[in-house]
Amino acid sequence: MEKLVVLGGGESGIGTAILGKKQGYKVFVSDLGEIHTEYKEVLLHHKIDFEEKQHTKEKIFDADIVMKSPGIPDKVALIQGLRSKGISVISEIEFAGRYTNARIIGITGSNGKTTTTLLTHHLLKDAGLNVGIAGNIGDSFAKQVAEQSFENYVLELSSFQLDGVEEFNSHIAMITNITPDHLDRYDYDFNNYIASKFRIAKNQTEKDFLIYDSDDKVITSWLAENPVKSKLVPFSILKELEYGAFIRENNIIIRLNEEEYIMNTSYLKIKGKHNTKNAMASMLASKLLQVRNQSITESMSGFEGAEHRLEKVLKIEGVSYVNDSKATNVNATFYALECMDRPTVWIVGGVDKGNDYTDLLPLVREKVKAIVCLGLDNRKIIDTFQNVVDVIVETAGAEEAVKVSHKLAEKNDTVLLSPACASFDLFEDYEDRGRKFKKAVREL
Ligand code: ADP
Repeated sequence: MEKLVVLGGGESGIGTAILGKKQGYKVFVSDLGEIHTEYKEVLLHHKIDFEEKQHTKEKIFDADIVMKSPGIPDKVALIQGLRSKGISVISEIEFAGRYTNARIIGITGSNGKTTTTLLTHHLLKDAGLNVGIAGNIGDSFAKQVAEQSFENYVLELSSFQLDGVEEFNSHIAMITNITPDHLDRYDYDFNNYIASKFRIAKNQTEKDFLIYDSDDKVITSWLAENPVKSKLVPFSILKELEYGAFIRENNIIIRLNEEEYIMNTSYLKIKGKHNTKNAMASMLASKLLQVRNQSITESMSGFEGAEHRLEKVLKIEGVSYVNDSKATNVNATFYALECMDRPTVWIVGGVDKGNDYTDLLPLVREKVKAIVCLGLDNRKIIDTFQNVVDVIVETAGAEEAVKVSHKLAEKNDTVLLSPACASFDLFEDYEDRGRKFKKAVREL
């Protein structure tokens, strides 16, 4: 019996353990931290051996194959040790991909993965395809491969998932955009991170497709130097394309053959240029899978977007409150500010991953009337914007930030939470931050 060791008892780890057991492996799950009670119950139910708060080396090094949770960096001694012993260390998608023949639509990028994954799934499901969704959303891919029988999967793929890929392939791959992120995991070398994103195309053949933002110079320069085998399917909001998706006046045009499919942008409920791009990518995937134009148009108008991404919360005394807590980097916040069409009180701050705010200066000058800092250390924000915005206030919690914003905002203004930073100084995670923001707004 082959031995599978699963490092990390989170969603992807538990899914892999279930699938491994079903496939006849002897499975052992090891987590250095505590495993959630509900996951422990699942392991007990499936009679899967596990340990927590420790890694027992003898058992781990006895593995034939190891699945590492995406949260564990490659650099740690345990992983290096396993590799040096010739033990294969792979990611959940690599493992699960070996046990399904489903067609994969894989989506990566620095921003827009979740939105584009949800939207693509929504368009395909409405068109009647038998399609599952996995990634950061719901059950893990591995668990679904073990327990469901979808013919297609739309998968959100982080760079960490892609790092552990050997043979896994997406028939349709998408790269939404690439901006510096998670560089601490890539030796502070942007090229390593770009290469990781492009692993999505590594196993593609001439029969596969790579959908990408051709306005993104990082992507196009990389492709010029590192050609891929799959068919390139670009989208652009800046120029007309011979092949792919582009904008003409207020229409999205999809041109994959002689016939053009034209959809007016008024069908999009999700706002902003970034979401137009996300929509184009999803529409391209749908067209490549032969979804009918009318189905795409109808289904598009029913997609409201995801929680914590430019989510409209409430309008109070003429002031709109918007929750963009998922904006954990400068690029995401750039697009949020760009969509603001009214004077904005901007709530920003948290744990800064080496942010450079200068790209935001013109937008802030034009749109932001006051800044409310929501972080433990706000020095950089204050230094960058003090000559641009008259009012900058520091706060130390969602409730305080909302109350202060409420005082600063006047009728027809917008209060925007778009932090450009991670949330771990004051909150559990971005969802906790977004929920506390919404609660405070509702209690005003
Ligand atoms: P991800 O899963 O890659 O983090 P999300 O869809 O969760 O992406 O969006 C994260 C943040 O980025 C949100 O603030 C959202 O408004 C913004 N965003 C969404 N799509 C894009 C895009 N194509 N380019 C830049 N920012 C985007």
